[in-house]
Amino acid sequence: AFGTNQEDYASYIMNSIIRWGDPVSAALEDGELLVQQTKNSDRTPLVSVLLEGPPNSGKTALAAKISEDSQFPFIKICSPDKMIGHSEIAKCQAIKKIFEDAYKSQLSCVVVDDIERLLDYVPIGPRFSNMVLQALLVLLKKPPPKGRKLLIIGTTSRKDVLQEMEMLDAFSTTIHIPNISKVEQLMEAFELLGSFNEKERAMIAKALQGQRLGIGIKKLLMLIEMAAQMDPDYRVRKFVSLLQEEGALVSDKFVAI
Ligand code: ATP
Ligand code: MG
Repeated sequence: AFGTNQEDYASYIMNSIIRWGDPVSAALEDGELLVQQTKNSDRTPLVSVLLEGPPNSGKTALAAKISEDSQFPFIKICSPDKMIGHSEIAKCQAIKKIFEDAYKSQLSCVVVDDIERLLDYVPIGPRFSNMVLQALLVLLKKPPPKGRKLLIIGTTSRKDVLQEMEMLDAFSTTIHIPNISKVEQLMEAFELLGSFNEKERAMIAKALQGQRLGIGIKKLLMLIEMAAQMDPDYRVRKFVSLLQEEGALVSDKFVAI
């Protein structure tokens, strides 16, 4: 697929991007700056950024969004779900092919999604594919041919592991993608999503008053939908107990409702 941009963004940004707080705007703005740098700077033909943050925080969707907004002529998302069942060698070849295609275009963006999954990393052991690691390390550092430009956007939930593998240093910069951590941010998300009515939102805000939260946007969308299946009278109670069960309430100070 030389010189074409036919990524299926809808599957990566299934529920659009909700601007629930400053961290979202900051990540998108930083991403936009790197897009501009790749486009405009002749000194840095290769720019790479790692979006790192807890599981479910929205890293993949934000990486896809930044790449889509770049409107670069070549954009490819290299994702482990396209490589299920691939051998290590097949994986390396697939990744190499994506980069080789990218080098053929003047201006390209490659998203390397869920890097620890691409590496077959498992904490038990721990184990990973050294072959894929070495391939990625080389490709992350290799500038595109003269006159061409490349932006690489990686995502990971395991910054610590990538640090140990000495992959962190291969990226020009990192952007932290945090969880929703404040009640106001949760309320903003409800507002933008149109979830719960005014009264229910007020009840949730009261129940969570003074709490520190820690919940990823992807998980939040799931909990909202689960609670929405309940009888309206129990919705709020259900949602708050789901938050608790998820360990999304950092302190256990909890007002009963
Ligand atoms: P994992 O840790 O499993 O890889 P992830 O951090 O990559 O998860 P995504 O797969 O990007 O999370 O899921 C985020 C979901 O939330 C997407 O469906 C996306 O459309 C939606 N979403 C809504 N608002 C935002 C936002 N502000 N940032 C990111 N994603 C958002
Ligand atoms: Mg992801």
